Amino acid sequence: MTDRNRRPGAMTTAIHAGEGPDPATGASAPPIHMSSTFVSDSVSGFSAHDLGEDSPFLYARWSNPNVAMLEEKIAALQGTEACLCTASGMAAATAIFLTFLSAGDHVIVSDVSYAGVAELARDTLPRLGIAVSTVNLSDPGALAAAMRPNTKLVHSESPVNPILRLTDLAEVSRIAHAGGALHSTDATFASPMGMDTTALGVDLVMHSITKYIGGHGDAVGGAVAGRADLIRRLRLEAGIHHGGVLSPFNAWLIARGAATLPLRMKAHAAGAQAVAEWLETRPGVTRVLYPGLPSHPQHDLARRQMKTGSGMIAFQVGSAAQGRAIAQEMIEKLDILHYAVSLGHHRSLIFWMETAGLMQTSFRLTGAAADSYRDYAGDGIFRLSVGLEDAEDLIADLSRVI
Ligand SMILES: *Cc1c(COP(=O)(O)O)cnc(C)c1O
Repeated sequence: MTDRNRRPGAMTTAIHAGEGPDPATGASAPPIHMSSTFVSDSVSGFSAHDLGEDSPFLYARWSNPNVAMLEEKIAALQGTEACLCTASGMAAATAIFLTFLSAGDHVIVSDVSYAGVAELARDTLPRLGIAVSTVNLSDPGALAAAMRPNTKLVHSESPVNPILRLTDLAEVSRIAHAGGALHSTDATFASPMGMDTTALGVDLVMHSITKYIGGHGDAVGGAVAGRADLIRRLRLEAGIHHGGVLSPFNAWLIARGAATLPLRMKAHAAGAQAVAEWLETRPGVTRVLYPGLPSHPQHDLARRQMKTGSGMIAFQVGSAAQGRAIAQEMIEKLDILHYAVSLGHHRSLIFWMETAGLMQTSFRLTGAAADSYRDYAGDGIFRLSVGLEDAEDLIADLSRVI
């Protein structure tokens, strides 16, 4: 006897949410719908404002069966009412900023974040008359002090790319809401399995679904999940009007990846834990940052806030010159790990990120903020995305160079 009111578990949700046998053919696996337009069986309006909750498909920039299915799956995995998929993770960030901010508003962004988001906030938003403050959001006091009467949005990231510093999301939600602002967070490093963002009070959670949700390094995409009223505004402005929508083929590939997300995240976390513990024993490694290690400065917050770890590790090896030399050796000697940007794929990826360069191009931190970054990153870090290979093989590969 089954209880029909029982909520299915994460593994069942990942496989079945949003999908079912194809009504036309009975196909068990979802077909790909590449059609840009859909034949109407009634006379309807032509404006995005005519779009209702249960409107039939009209045109693929408005909605498409593969994209709608993926949106339902991601919302179910993240535990939110709704979701909008976008052409990339950056399109998801742009969607949040340009939908919820206007000239004269103020936004607070984490002082360390994905480089593209940091540059978008610093270089583009002020040109549109939006005031931007960058704040170390791991310090709630600093956030409270930075809030202004016109602060409309606080955009956090946890763990932050690339230094794996965590943000207490419940605390940031509380401070943002007390000031009348929305709280959006970039949870790409954690994946939807990492944190119960709804319980932590987050209004909008974005992902680069190029990373863990897709999981196989073969499709670029983005998503914003949250309350239905907020996602409705995003869909109208960012989806239909700005037009950065996800292609049906990418949605199909990413949904296929998402079906195994809970299983993969457990394996990524177990592999990363083993590799991180091994890295801590290496004499040439001066610092390892992994939230699952007791040595992580916010290990307690990680245990409290994170349901599952991920595959992301950062480690230091000493001076910038030493880092660059080891990076060159990695390019020449590694057999299994790919020396490449991006993360969250089944293949392990590693990339050297020198602090001086990142400061110039992306973060431009000074004073205490720069000191705090250096505390985590030193003169540079290797960002390691532990894939799904056997940990022993990754350790054997890495032991040739460090
Ligand atoms: C990759 C990434 C992005 C940008 O996503 P794209 O899909 O590359 O546009 C945003 N935030 C984080 C944390 C990322 O890792």
